[in-house]
Amino acid sequence: MTLTPINAGWIEVICGSMFSGKTEELIRRLRRAQIAKMKTIVFKPRIDSRYSDSHIVSHNQVKLESHLVDTPEEILELSTDAIVVAIDEAQFFGDSILEICKILANNGKRVVVAGLDTDYRGMPFGPMPQLMCEADYLDKLRAICVQCGNPATYTQRTSTDAEQVVIGELDKYEARCRNCYEKPKDN
Ligand code: ZN
Repeated sequence: MTLTPINAGWIEVICGSMFSGKTEELIRRLRRAQIAKMKTIVFKPRIDSRYSDSHIVSHNQVKLESHLVDTPEEILELSTDAIVVAIDEAQFFGDSILEICKILANNGKRVVVAGLDTDYRGMPFGPMPQLMCEADYLDKLRAICVQCGNPATYTQRTSTDAEQVVIGELDKYEARCRNCYEKPKDN
């Protein structure tokens, strides 16, 4: 018995609410792969340009260089040499991200995907449900509720914007538990 497949690829999904440490966990896994001298590559969708353009940055300001892409298909083209392919903010990609991840894993690569499982309304976010079903390994991380300190699985939008995607951080969102989460009125 081994902990991970031998001579085969696989898909790891890290999901959770905002402020649950998904990017931090993604970076931790990537760093360990790099220490093991595996060739890694990191992608994120162009929509998310907070903090810096060419890096993924966790809330605790740890950075890793990444490629900004407009479509999942670009990931396939750029990943030929990599053993470990990481994708952050996967919820912003179109549905074809699922097929791209499967192709990468079938080609023997370790695919590490991080993303928000639900949006601010508490609804499944983009391709995340499909990715979570396809995952060989799945971790759902929890934040800490800012109101009561319970484990938090909801992302509360504190601004009044009604679009699904509103880029922002502590100024626009906070982590809430099931008790403290308030369903947005526009829904
Ligand atoms: Zn709470």
